Amino acid sequence: MDKDTLIEAVRNAGVVGEGGAGFPAHVKYAAPVGTVIANGCECEPLLHSDQHLMTAHADKVVRGLTAVMAATGAGRGVVAVKRKYTAAAEALEAAMDGQDLELARLDNFYPAGDEQILVYELTGRTIPPLGLPKDVDAVVANVGTLCAVSDALDGVPVTHKIVTVTGEVRRPAVLRVPVGTPVTALIERCGPSTTPEPVVVLGGPMMGRFVDRPEDLQAEVITKTLGGVILLPRGHYLHQAATLPVEEIQKRARTACIQCRYCTDQCPRFLIGHGFETHKVMRSFSGAADVATGALQAAMCCECGICELFSCPMHLSPRRINRLFKARLQEQGVSYDGPRAVHGEQTALREFRRVPTSRLAVRIGIEPYMALHPEFDGDLVPPAVEIPLRQHIGAPARAVVRAGDRVACGDLIGEIPEGGLGARVHASIDGVVAAVGETVAIKGA
Ligand code: SF4
Ligand code: SF4
Repeated sequence: MDKDTLIEAVRNAGVVGEGGAGFPAHVKYAAPVGTVIANGCECEPLLHSDQHLMTAHADKVVRGLTAVMAATGAGRGVVAVKRKYTAAAEALEAAMDGQDLELARLDNFYPAGDEQILVYELTGRTIPPLGLPKDVDAVVANVGTLCAVSDALDGVPVTHKIVTVTGEVRRPAVLRVPVGTPVTALIERCGPSTTPEPVVVLGGPMMGRFVDRPEDLQAEVITKTLGGVILLPRGHYLHQAATLPVEEIQKRARTACIQCRYCTDQCPRFLIGHGFETHKVMRSFSGAADVATGALQAAMCCECGICELFSCPMHLSPRRINRLFKARLQEQGVSYDGPRAVHGEQTALREFRRVPTSRLAVRIGIEPYMALHPEFDGDLVPPAVEIPLRQHIGAPARAVVRAGDRVACGDLIGEIPEGGLGARVHASIDGVVAAVGETVAIKGA
């Protein structure tokens, strides 16, 4: 596999990083690296989408991995899974048979699937603050992305997504759904809800986005990067934390922080050696230290939520304070230009301070849902889809269809703008284009 063939195939197929913010794969895999890591750690609790992919499509994961290795010139390829994923590990071992690849089994801690943490676990090297895996000669690809790479090599574009639906639903399940499917269709398929007036989390419980009002939920659709739909009771611990008014957060931060530094000591970024001490951000927010320094430090926060949902004994929200500072920096057009040194001594206690997922689940009130183990329940075929032209980092795709056009699943409907960073978008069902705007609405045939 030469680099140009892979880059062209993934570009044509609209492949983006499926486990994160959706970085276009044809740009990510263009740089040469020594190690390719397939991320099968499914960072967030409760999600089972990647486990399903690895168990049912281990051959695609391995084929995608070897293709990216060949294109980037990498000599080392590793698939990282959690130790408890025994079925997935068996399937992967069988698919890897005879190939010079590694299977790494990680402990069940959060956030094991964070790109920077994974690179540290597997290479022993710390990506410098605000850096990328390529800074330490590695690239990380989610296992869903690698399945998409494998399909792309056969000329099959990204049209579907594997999604876990769980929490307060009668029949939790893992489903394969067309991109652009309304989230309400998945809830209907797995419902009814087992709690009155549930709130919906899009993504995982720690970093997902809460949709509070049923009317807002109507507009939400499945994208290439959305792998989880979780229903929780209104007023759940996570719901309260996510919807606490920002004025209240600011007031509490200014008055109640006792500077115990638990938030710093358990921060995954601090524990891989970043010079980031979030208790100092809190101090500068309260006016007890230089604000500019605090604001810059906040730029290093990956918003994993451990400080806010697990560590802080005062129920404060360092994550949201960091978010506020980051938004302020963005508004002012300021990028982080502080130190990027790695403090190796901070990693000494990491092994003892990592947060086990089982303890986290108890702390954040999702323990009852951990026992649900949603199984794959086939395809969901919606009567219509609404496909966003922006599901990735970069510029939105430029629509290449008009209302009234007839399309088949896999047809190109959005092209990368000339000279821009972006990803192609394809029809996910057969049908007729009903409307074109920021999304392409398709009514099924
Ligand atoms: S854990 Fe809470 S109280 Fe302690 S320093 Fe951090 S924000 Fe302040
Ligand atoms: S959310 Fe909290 S624990 Fe996570 S990286 Fe940011 S400061 Fe650290």
